[in-house]
Amino acid sequence: MNLILMGLPGAGKGTQAEKIVEKYGIPHISTGDMFRAAIKDGTELGLKAKSFMDQGHLVPDEVTIGIVRERLAKDDCQNGFLLDGFPRTVAQAEALEETLKLMNRKLDFVLNIHVDQQLLIDRLTGRRICKECGATYHLIFNPPAEEGICSKCGGELYQRADDNEETVANRLEVNIKQTQPLLDFYNNLGYVKTIEGDQEISKVFVDIDNLLKELV
Ligand SMILES: [Zn+2]
Repeated sequence: MNLILMGLPGAGKGTQAEKIVEKYGIPHISTGDMFRAAIKDGTELGLKAKSFMDQGHLVPDEVTIGIVRERLAKDDCQNGFLLDGFPRTVAQAEALEETLKLMNRKLDFVLNIHVDQQLLIDRLTGRRICKECGATYHLIFNPPAEEGICSKCGGELYQRADDNEETVANRLEVNIKQTQPLLDFYNNLGYVKTIEGDQEISKVFVDIDNLLKELV
């Protein structure tokens, strides 16, 4: 099964990726991991990517897609892969289509975990940290026993500046602008499967699993 996983920050992509990997044994390939591995292995493309990064430049698409191609050719991808964080642009998506064609493969699904924007904002702004002991809480997922007070040491809880509503909303906007053209591209090719991410984690996975079962 050849998959791409998409979803805005806070949609629960990481958790679902782990579950997919665990059940189906395909590698979870994130862009960062792929670059790090190529650089560590000292491949020609890895070294090229490193020289761009060292100069503070973006790695050009032809280098990135080359690294993706090498990664997908490895043994552990024989039964499939779960790409995460790549492609980021339509140009990269087109290059990936070409590459897969050359490898006699094709995508099965682009899994898009959808969560309502306001709900994402609630999730992403819910973190609270203890000033005294550094313990972290979440207003929705792991609330302290008493509001604003650390359950472990009684210290005062605060919100990091990065987690405030305006910053989070801006970050989401930027993400939506970047991913919409990509979703449109894959929708036109018929690959997109939208998963309702506003459910319990286990139920989200049941929905994903129901799709993936067809591929086995
Ligand atoms: Zn504390």
